[in-house]
Amino acid sequence: MTDLLARAEQDPASLTRTDLVRLLSVADGAPFAALEAAARRVREAHTGKAVYLRGLIEMGNRCAKDCRYCGLRRSNRALHRYTIPEADCLRMARWARDHGYGSIVLQSGELESEENTARIERILRALRAEDGEQLGITLSLGEQTPEVYRRWREAGADRYLLRIETSDPRLYAALHPADHSFTRRLDCLRALRTLGYQVGTGVMIGLPGQTLEQLADDLLFFRREEIDMIGMGPWLPHRAAPLGQGTELTPTFCARQLGLGLRMIAAARLLLPTCNIAAATALQALQDDGRERGLRAGANVVMPNITDRLYRADYQLYENKPCIGEDPLKCRGCLEARIRLAGCTVAWHTPGTPKHYQEAQ
Ligand code: SF4
Repeated sequence: MTDLLARAEQDPASLTRTDLVRLLSVADGAPFAALEAAARRVREAHTGKAVYLRGLIEMGNRCAKDCRYCGLRRSNRALHRYTIPEADCLRMARWARDHGYGSIVLQSGELESEENTARIERILRALRAEDGEQLGITLSLGEQTPEVYRRWREAGADRYLLRIETSDPRLYAALHPADHSFTRRLDCLRALRTLGYQVGTGVMIGLPGQTLEQLADDLLFFRREEIDMIGMGPWLPHRAAPLGQGTELTPTFCARQLGLGLRMIAAARLLLPTCNIAAATALQALQDDGRERGLRAGANVVMPNITDRLYRADYQLYENKPCIGEDPLKCRGCLEARIRLAGCTVAWHTPGTPKHYQEAQ
């Protein structure tokens, strides 16, 4: 393992699928500590100790899709559905900007309609009219046509997050109903790159039946598709979703999912030194300091939820989501302290464009 870590630090391009599986299966204790330490050294060499904040605005929970793992799926008729009015979205975005968040993420369920496209366009144009190009604006609004992506890019969005969820088409088919297409999602990611977005994707980690080889392939997928931002997190069950029905959040389950999630972050950092990698909120759902542990494993982005508290309980892709009742101002202070404890510093007022993207320009 010592030799593998040394080679990974010096020559990430040499890492193979077999190497990645070895990294993902590293034992707890000293071997895992060595993996994390190597990932931290790589992060600090390429992106420093700075952690970028993305203020997350969950704009609405209506979704046309029916993903088998998600609490927002259209079949969940018990869920109270909401769409935040444009003026309130703008107020939350301004709050983020005025409190030093260098970027925001506008996220919602997937809706393909002219009404939705035009609404997002208006919000983007209003934000850009106020701030020029200061604020990084990420959209996370699912699969759309290239034309819609183009309109949103021209209206001011500069980043797009679209999780592939798994790079294995067969596993993808098992996670989604037959009318959801892996090929379309891949085409969307490629269209986003062509349009000049900073492109983010990610996967679920620790899915029922998923192998370490599939996870290694996910990491190689990020490299092959020239992904700039990685937002991946441990899979967590939701009682309104069919996948993993009956799975309990036992201490053993949580420890396994957290351990695998951290190993994926560390391996991703070694393989892709210049990408932005998020410490997902799902890590915190598994353990109170899960996000800080993600930073210690090599991540450099966190996405604090700045959505009005009124809406947050209705936006749960998985259950046990942390900070649902927290005030954004309190979260802000708590988060800075947590980030410092992880040995990092908050990069306030900084959009945090991934070095991977900058180098490709
Ligand atoms: S994962 Fe996304 S697209 Fe799928 S049901 Fe949930 S919100 Fe909709």
